[in-house]
Amino acid sequence: MGDTQVNCLYCGKKIAGDVAECPHCGAVSHFQTRGYRSGARLRFVLFWIGVAAFCLFFALWLPR
Ligand SMILES: [Zn+2]
Repeated sequence: MGDTQVNCLYCGKKIAGDVAECPHCGAVSHFQTRGYRSGARLRFVLFWIGVAAFCLFFALWLPR
């Protein structure tokens, strides 16, 4: 089983090497190598850009 442990860069505690975030301090783990997390992060950013564009559209479109 992949139970490789690494030290968190921020709090220094032992964390599993394949977790997305440190369970102790919540810092994003920099030991991810699979790349799925960056994809999820991109979707998250695109989602908020969409929300912002949606709000901006209504703010400009709605009559005052
Ligand atoms: Zn930590």
